[in-house]
Amino acid sequence: MFIGSPRERFEGEARVAMTPDSATQLQKLGYHCAIETGAGKLAGFSDDAYRAVGVTVVDSIDALYASVDVIAQVRPPEANDLARLSASKTLISFFYPAQNKELLEQAKTTGANVVAMDMVPRISRAQKMDALSSMANIAGYRAVIEAGNNFGRFFTGQVTAAGKIPPAKVLVIGAGVAGLAAVGTSISLGAITYAFDVRPEVAEQIESMGAEFVFLDFKEQQQDGAATGGYASPSSPEFREAQLKKFREIAPDIDIVVSTALIPGRDAPKLWLADMVAAMKPGSVVVDLAAERGGNCDLTVPDQKIVSENGVTVIGYTDFPSRMASQASTLYSTNIRHMMTDLTPKKDGVLVHNMEDDVIRGATVAFQGEITYPPPPPKIQ
Ligand code: NAD
Repeated sequence: MFIGSPRERFEGEARVAMTPDSATQLQKLGYHCAIETGAGKLAGFSDDAYRAVGVTVVDSIDALYASVDVIAQVRPPEANDLARLSASKTLISFFYPAQNKELLEQAKTTGANVVAMDMVPRISRAQKMDALSSMANIAGYRAVIEAGNNFGRFFTGQVTAAGKIPPAKVLVIGAGVAGLAAVGTSISLGAITYAFDVRPEVAEQIESMGAEFVFLDFKEQQQDGAATGGYASPSSPEFREAQLKKFREIAPDIDIVVSTALIPGRDAPKLWLADMVAAMKPGSVVVDLAAERGGNCDLTVPDQKIVSENGVTVIGYTDFPSRMASQASTLYSTNIRHMMTDLTPKKDGVLVHNMEDDVIRGATVAFQGEITYPPPPPKIQ
C-alpha cells in the first residue's frame, strides 16, 4: 500500500506529517511512501531529501490523494480534502471531532476511515503515539524561549564586574505536559521558577524539578479542582477566589508568566487578570498557551503579541509547535509511524484497522461510513 503526506494548506503551518526518516521506517513496515512536492520545505526537508530515501514526489495534492491509500497530515482536513477521499482510503491527522462536527459528517459520507491523532487514549501503551503530548512539550519549551526573546534581561542571576544581576522569576500556571516542559526549560535557563496547578498531585513533580509549587491558603486544596482521568475540572468560586488572591499577591514580583491552564471541553479559565498585568513591572512578559481556547490572560489576543499600557508584553501565538517545524515534524511523524506500526500487524504494507484494539478504536472517529466518535468508555482492566 501507499502512504503519503500533502503540503499543509493551513495558513502559516510549517509542519509536515512525514519526514525522510519516518518514511524510511514506514518502508520497513512494507509501505511505499509519497509526498506532495514542497511538503517538507518549511520544516527543512527538501524534495531531494525524500527522493534520496525512495519517496515518490508527486506534483499536486490531487495526484497525491489519488495515488495513496493512507493520507497522513498534521492539520484537520478541509472540506476539499474530504471530497478527495473514498471508502478505500484512511486519513490520519489531528481532527478535534468535538469541535468539527460538520467535517465528521462529511468524513462519514466518504466512507473513508479517519484516525484522529488528538483522540489517541492517554494510556501508557499509547504514549509513543501521543501527538498531543509531543506538541505540548514543544509548545512549553518554545513559550519560555519566546518569553526570553521578549524579555530584556537574563533568566539567570549573575555577579559581574558591572554589577549584580538578580535572576528572573517565572510563574508557570498549569502543570500538564506543556507546563512541565516550560518549568524544565525555565529552570535550565536559571530562573527562579514557580508553578501552580489545581491538581495538587503535581506539586511533588514540580518540586523534584527544582521549582516551587505555589500553595494556596485554602483548606480544600487537596480536594478541589480534582482531576477526572488526570484532567482538571472547573474550580469552585471559593477556590478560584483563593487562587486569584494568591496571584494578585505575587504579580508585582513575577517577571514572566507562562500560562497553560485548560479544562477539557471548556473555554480556558481566566486566571491572569487585567489588574495582575497592571501590577507587573514594565518589561515583564506573559505567554498565554491557552490563547486558542480564549486565553488564561484577560489581555491575550490570539495569534498576536501586544504590549499593555504599563509595558508588559502579552503573547497569544497559537502556533508554537509550527515555530519549531523541524523538531515538531520529527516528533509528529514518529507518532504517526507508531500508529502505522499498530495498524500493520504483519509489517507487510497492509493496513488492518482492528477496532478491537483499544488505542485504534479510541482514535478512530469515522469507520466504514459510520461516525465512531465518541468511543465507548475504556474497559476496566
Ligand atoms: P491540559 O492541557 O488539559 O491542561 C493543562 C493543565 O492545566 C493541567 O495540568 C490542568 O490541571 C491545569 N489547570 C486547569 N485548570 C487550572 C486552573 N484553574 N489553575 C491552574 N491550572 C489549571 O493537560 P495535559 O497537559 O493534556 O495533561 C492532562 C493530564 O493528562 C495530566 O495529568 C497528564 O499528566 C496526563 N497525561 C497522561 C499521559 C499518559 O500517557 N499517561 C500522557 C499525557 C498526559
